[in-house]
Formats: sequence, C-alpha cells, structure tokens
Amino acid sequence: MSILQWVVASAVSRWGDDPFARGSWSLIGRGGTPRHRTDLGIPIGSRLKLAGEATHATRAAMTHGAYEEGARAAAWAAELGHSRVAVIGAGVAGLAAARTLTDSGIRTRVLEARNRIGGRTAPAEVGGFGFDLGANWLQQYHDNILARLAERLELPMVPTDFTDPLVLGTPHTTPKGLEQELRTRLAAAAEHAGIADVLDDWLADPGTWSPDDIRRFVDAEIVMDSGAPLSWLSARHGFEPGVGEGDRWIVGGYRPLIEHLADGLDIHLNQPVDHIRLDADGVTVSGDTRNLRADAAIVTAPVGVLAGGGITFDPPLPATHRTALQRLGMGRVEKVILRFDRRFWPPHPAGYYRLHGPGHNCVSEWLDATAADGTPTLVGLFAGPWLDTLWSGPDAEVTARTTAILARAVGVTA
Ligand SMILES: Cc1cc2nc3c(=O)[nH]c(=O)nc-3n(C[C@H](O)[C@H](O)[C@H](O)COP(=O)(O)OP(=O)(O)OC[C@H]3O[C@@H](n4cnc5c(N)ncnc54)[C@H](O)[C@@H]3O)c2cc1C
Repeated sequence: MSILQWVVASAVSRWGDDPFARGSWSLIGRGGTPRHRTDLGIPIGSRLKLAGEATHATRAAMTHGAYEEGARAAAWAAELGHSRVAVIGAGVAGLAAARTLTDSGIRTRVLEARNRIGGRTAPAEVGGFGFDLGANWLQQYHDNILARLAERLELPMVPTDFTDPLVLGTPHTTPKGLEQELRTRLAAAAEHAGIADVLDDWLADPGTWSPDDIRRFVDAEIVMDSGAPLSWLSARHGFEPGVGEGDRWIVGGYRPLIEHLADGLDIHLNQPVDHIRLDADGVTVSGDTRNLRADAAIVTAPVGVLAGGGITFDPPLPATHRTALQRLGMGRVEKVILRFDRRFWPPHPAGYYRLHGPGHNCVSEWLDATAADGTPTLVGLFAGPWLDTLWSGPDAEVTARTTAILARAVGVTA
C-alpha cells in the first residue's frame, strides 16, 4: 500500500510563482545593510511611503515587523494631516496601517490585488481545519505586538523549540561552538562578501571542524531561513535575527488575527495597482479597473513586486529607494501541509523535525501540527535548489514527492 493513500488532505504554497509576492520574505543581499531597509521606508515627499516587513531594520521578514511598519506609516500620514489615504495591499502591514488610520477617523481605502486578505500569512482551510500557507509562528514572542493581540483574542498557541530538532534520516547534532564560529567569520567578512565566500574559505581550511557539520549547520540555519543562494546573501547582514526566540504557532492559523485587524475596514479585493502618480495636490493610484485619488498613499507590496516593476511611480522612486531595492531581495521557501489518517513519524517533545536533502543547500523542516484537531498533521517547509524539481507540476505531484521524501527519511516504504 502506498503511503500516499494515508494522506487525507494537503495544501501546497507557490510563493516563487506568486506575482503579488515574488518570493517568501525580504533579505539583505551582497553590499546591502539594514540601512537599506530603513532607506526604503523613508517617506517620499509628503504623499508617499513604502512600508512592510522589508522596511523594518530589526524585525524584517516577520509579521510583527510588518505590523509595526504599517502602524508607523499610518502615524506619518496622520501627522501630516491627510484626510484621505490609499493603502496598497491588505497583508499585515496594510491592515495595520488602515486599522490605525480608520480608528483615528481618517478616510482610508485599501486596494488589494488578490481575492483575499492576509498577504503572506495566507490562511487556508485544509481538511476542515485552519492552517497557514505563509507565516505560521509568532516569533520573538515576548516582544511581539501581534502576540499580545493573539492573547487578547485568546487564540490557542503552542511553543516550538527550534533549538531542539529531531533530525530525520541520518541523525545529526551540531557540535558546540560551531554557530559562534560561523557568526564570528561572517561578522569579519568584507562588506561586499557573500555568505558563500565565507563558507568557501572555511571549507578550504576547516581546522578541527568537520565540513559535513559546517554544511549541515549552514543549510539548517541560513538556507532554511532565507531560501536564497548563499552567493547572493550578504555575509555580514544576510543572517538576521528572528527564529528561535520563543516562537509559538497559532493553532487554527493566523485567520482570526487577520480578520480582527480587517474588521470594518474599507477593503477592495481584486484591485491590482500598477501605477502611482504624485502631484502637488495628492496621488492618483491606478489599476486595470479604477483610478483612485487620495491625499497620500501607503504602499505595502513586497520588495519582489516593487523591484520587479509590478508598480511604477511617476515621478520615479528616488535614488535612495532604488538603491535599497537593488540591495534587498526575496528568497524562496515553500510550504506543504500534509494531513494523514495515521501517524508514522517518531514522536518528539519539541514537535520539530529537520530533514536534509540529497544535495548541498537542500533542506526542509517540519512542524508536527497534530495538536490542531487530533488529525496526524505535518507542516513542511522546503528551501534550496531541490525546489526546482519538487515544486514542478500540479499540487498532487508536489504532495506525492514531499510525502515520499518524508516516508524514506522515517523508514516507511513510500
Ligand atoms: C512560507 C512562509 C512562512 C513564513 N513564516 C513566518 C512565521 O512563521 N512568522 C512570521 O512572523 N513571519 C513569517 N513569514 C513572513 C510573513 O508572512 C511576512 O513577513 C508578512 O506577512 C509580510 O507582511 P506585509 O504586509 O509586509 O506583506 P504581504 O503580506 O506580502 O502583504 C502585501 C499585500 O500587498 C498585495 N499586493 C502586492 N502587489 C500588489 C499590487 N500591485 N496591488 C495591490 N496589492 C498588491 C499582496 O497581495 C499582499 O496582500 C513567512 C512567510 C512565508 C512566505
């Protein structure tokens, strides 16, 4: 009997192909620094501001960073006395901006390209229960504004100890001191060096460290957390903080948080914006079907969309912002949610598993989400070059390939 017959429901993300994301989260490339994140968020005159996870200098790539940047953009518009504001995008940043503005009595309209709100949180119902095809955890839990909101809404949450994975397949533990050694080497790298440069030097002269340990650690911590080529990622700034600081996943997914933020807002779905024109009296925000006039616009589209020319600006963005968009970029991490009619993987107190792929830089991690409703469930995240083959074809094929990888790693015949 094939293990695929044990799958009762599944869902697959497509962040790499998504025209309104163009990747998973923002990263700092070679020659970039956190300064480029703050540069991107500098207001452009008094009528335009870019905001989102990418503009947060210290909490980038996370939902609470997106929230803070959205709220900051709203404060900027309110201070300037604008009375009609257009917000582009109904992800966490856009909803935070619109919520804050609307609550202060400012007329705010949100234009969202997709047919749903939530952006890269991507709530989805899989087999009758709520999961997320994007963000799953509330990271940096103790200093996270969305975590406080989740507590007020009494959402059930489960902590994940990212420091204690069960490595499936070939068991492996990271030797003590290796992370510190890597961080020291990255910090000492030249400003324009990529992570691959530092790694190549280290592997050429590994000293007492085992090359396999080094590679596995880099795959688990940097490839998994970025989904970007190591040759592109900045050595000094490409390994940003976030994961492993008391993370909790929301049982049932981000949907209640998102719906709470969106409650009562003036949100228009299926409204991709492709052009924003600034003039002395205001902004004109245009898409296929409408032109909207407002005093100011807050644009929360991801850097992948902005850098790819998904929205054009007249006049063009200033040089500071264009340079920031060149130094920042997006990686690709994809998710699969697999629900089974039986449990076949080993129990582990942290509910957190890691699995290394056949080639370098191919890695996946798995969250045991059985606690959701008692149905045996694993949520897998994949990064690295194996995505090119694993994520080709329809969802059913991705489900079959990822299930087979899992089965092999735990010694079950696929
Ligand atoms: C697989 C995955 C796992 C993740 N895991 C976590 C996690 O566990 N914890 C965590 O904190 N973060 C996680 N993140 C990151 C987190 O999801 C993002 O940092 C956050 O949701 C970004 O919010 P945002 O509002 O800045 O951008 P987005 O959520 O991308 O919102 C931007 C919105 O703009 C819309 N848009 C784009 N282009 C246009 C256009 N031209 N016109 C109109 N609208 C447009 C988009 O459709 C979108 O709704 C994860 C992301 C992914 C992809």
